[in-house]
Amino acid sequence: MKSVQTRSADLFQRARAVIAGGADSPVRAGGAVGSPPPVIACAHGSHVIDVDGREYIDYLCAYGPVLLGHSHPAVTAAVARALEDGAVFGATHPEEIRLAERIATLMPSMERLRFVSTGTEACLSAVRVARAFTRRETLARLRGNYHGHSDEMIFSAGASSDSAPTLASGITSAVVNGVLVLPYNDASAIERALESETVAALIMEPIAGNMGLVLPEDGYLSRVREACARSGTVLIFDEVITGFRVGLGGAQERYRIRPDLACIGKTLGGGLPIAAFGGRRDIMACLAPEGSVFQGGTFAGNPVCVAAAHAFLDVLEADAGFYERLDMLARRLAGGAREALSNAGLQYPVVQLASMVDFSFRAGAAPRDYAQAAQADGDEYARYYWKMLASGIFLPPSKMELMFVSAAHTVEDIDVTVDAMRHGLARA
Ligand code: PMP
Repeated sequence: MKSVQTRSADLFQRARAVIAGGADSPVRAGGAVGSPPPVIACAHGSHVIDVDGREYIDYLCAYGPVLLGHSHPAVTAAVARALEDGAVFGATHPEEIRLAERIATLMPSMERLRFVSTGTEACLSAVRVARAFTRRETLARLRGNYHGHSDEMIFSAGASSDSAPTLASGITSAVVNGVLVLPYNDASAIERALESETVAALIMEPIAGNMGLVLPEDGYLSRVREACARSGTVLIFDEVITGFRVGLGGAQERYRIRPDLACIGKTLGGGLPIAAFGGRRDIMACLAPEGSVFQGGTFAGNPVCVAAAHAFLDVLEADAGFYERLDMLARRLAGGAREALSNAGLQYPVVQLASMVDFSFRAGAAPRDYAQAAQADGDEYARYYWKMLASGIFLPPSKMELMFVSAAHTVEDIDVTVDAMRHGLARA
């Protein structure tokens, strides 16, 4: 009989032969923690189960989409129903229109939108539209923010995706020359960069979730908003993580800042791939057939993913205490983490906002930008990751990701996790 470890390890070996790098997304291969994480067989509620039958409390939550918990019955039923009537039409259908209307009501900046399948498409399309609208070439973005894997988003992005701005990473100098990469939480740097009035768009995560959790400092977002308005730069909020997670109206509602365009994805499909970009009516009018910007997708707005998104929004809207309960759970987790760190004699700051919890293995104040976030100790995180896994806690396999709490997590899940943290953080 094979040992418990072996099925996952064997499968990963098989994967390596036929899937480049052994995984469909590099972080999943576990390089940052020294070896591959378990191969997952299934997931229910707040738990994932690996191919060796070991069950874990899940805080990876698929890097964000799993806000309701895995295989939520309302989403599962909606998907099954939709599949019976055809998975994809390549034509407009009523539920797609109703979903756009619903989103515009919840997130009023989205006057008009386009559905796509992934956050990557949403972000690259938003930038293309912004360029057409402003007739300017340069894109500004912030180090440590992630906007998908298109050429001009991926280099010098920080986070788990960091790639060099070189041909070795597949990035041409023409692409590099069209992009300004500025530090996060530095409004003056943005004001200076936009002064020349040559920047088409600034794309940013209003709450940064790809270098751990880094919150915008007081007044930062409003200064960014003003700088963009002054210089005629299109402000794009990438709310692929924060959309429907920090509230029904996203970070823009929470901080009362209206971007010109916004991108949403991840949570929206209740686990299925659907995303969108949208915003000001005049900017979105640049899209063909009204304007000259082509953008489209075979699976864009398909009825199955749209049905999942309706089911997801139904659950959120029917439950007045939804966000409060998630916040309570996340605060309990953050509080427990603070206590466990303090018991272990570690002075690491814990950051929590809504259902996101993070601490980096780095002493001092909470990181305010990528330079600080990157100082976190990856080796120490790797040791912690494996100890937590052995205690039945499924964490992201990289120091740059954060913990997501879902509505399926229970107080008991949190308390078991905090207990595991006490052991995981104790110096051996
Ligand atoms: N934007 C942000 C803020 C993200 O976190 C991600 C995914 N991690 C993306 C865009 C890209 O989304 P996708 O992986 O669906 O292409």
